Amino acid sequence: MTRIDEKLEPILTTVKERNAGEPEFHQAVIEVMESLGRVVAKHPQFLEEGLIERICEPERQIIFRVPWIDDQNQVRINRGFRVQFNSALGPYKGGIRFHPSVNVGIIKFLGFEQTFKNALTTMPIGGGKGGSDFDPKGRSDREIMRFCQSFMTELHRHIGEYTDVPAGDIGVGGREIGYMFGQYKRLTNRYEAGVLTGKGLSYGGSRARPEATGFGLVFFVRSMLEAHGDSIDGKTAVVSGSGNVACFAIRKLQKYGAKVVACSDSSGYVVDEGGLDLDLVREIKEKRRGRISEYHRIKGTGTYFIEAGKGAIWDVPCEIALPCATQNELNGKHAANLIRNGVRVVAEGANMPCTPDAVEALRRSHVLYAPGKAANAGGVATSALEMQQNASRDSWTFDQTVERLDEIMTNIHDVCAETAEEYGAPGDYVLGANIAGFVRVADAMRALGVV
Ligand code: GLU
Repeated sequence: MTRIDEKLEPILTTVKERNAGEPEFHQAVIEVMESLGRVVAKHPQFLEEGLIERICEPERQIIFRVPWIDDQNQVRINRGFRVQFNSALGPYKGGIRFHPSVNVGIIKFLGFEQTFKNALTTMPIGGGKGGSDFDPKGRSDREIMRFCQSFMTELHRHIGEYTDVPAGDIGVGGREIGYMFGQYKRLTNRYEAGVLTGKGLSYGGSRARPEATGFGLVFFVRSMLEAHGDSIDGKTAVVSGSGNVACFAIRKLQKYGAKVVACSDSSGYVVDEGGLDLDLVREIKEKRRGRISEYHRIKGTGTYFIEAGKGAIWDVPCEIALPCATQNELNGKHAANLIRNGVRVVAEGANMPCTPDAVEALRRSHVLYAPGKAANAGGVATSALEMQQNASRDSWTFDQTVERLDEIMTNIHDVCAETAEEYGAPGDYVLGANIAGFVRVADAMRALGVV
């Protein structure tokens, strides 16, 4: 494992002490710190004025009660969070996650990652993240609406188009953004389209925002392979998850000629040796809000389903592996399996889906490995394009928007590759992404003084 520079060691110790019991946040900070030794050796000014300490400390953390009434008339209480991490480059920007695993440490790790990811897009957006430990699984549409309204009743006073602009993440899609936007509009009496992104097309959303993270991920993979004289065409791929990111990554991979043989949800994974039928996956997950096991029941021959806990999707041989489900879903053992089976590319569609030992194994091998803060930045980049359209009261075509997304992703790829080269580690996208993202945020923070 890469060592932490001795000048950075005390900073990391303090981060661990003052954020005790938040392992995911520590993990995200350690990964960035491992890359920063080379930066501070070259640019010691970044060690001045507590800059790195400030980058690791959120500007503001909000925790609130979210009471709501379920369909049985019972009062339920959840906890809501918004961590406004860094606003040096623009208003705080980042999604809202509804999942029972959410706690302040999870939101903090996501906000920290988001800060560097957003910087890599070169768009004027700071970093933030929010969410709740609310579990939307099995909840009726009315319950979801009441929950979103209660969540926004508190959140509205902390956000705004120039302050903080939330969007979706796990458990929060177009439906939830609609309910939250409706409540924000009612409470503030303002049609402030730029306060949320991921909106529906009928009320100020951007074309291609739902597709953006998955498409952007595949644009990044295409650039990585191209830079190494290879292409997506004809390759076998495995994509974990079956939500928004996974589905549109699958669509773009198929468009570029890959055969995608497996996807998953929290119940397990399904394999279709002939190549996944994406329409069927979307029908099951988006329309019926069902389980991925139904795919095997409906399609039958040539397909199989493995229940969660009885195997991992990463056992399925492939050349392209895209973890698009959640944090720490791909561990060292999984990485070893993938490498043994001849994987060529691993690119993160989710936030921090590879554990540190998986990352270490992938970086040591011949595999092209792209960290989430670079590879999945297409979603938030297109959110910034949505803010741009809202600010100019304009609406772009699908093709125009995807073209911008493609340019942004190609640029992120090139910047990461060039930065890695400049700092003496050609091909190391982790180092490239961490350094390029950090330098952008750090330069702006230095210019703004100690705030
Ligand atoms: N939740 C997404 C992410 O992790 C998108 C955030 C946004 O669009 O603001 O980047």
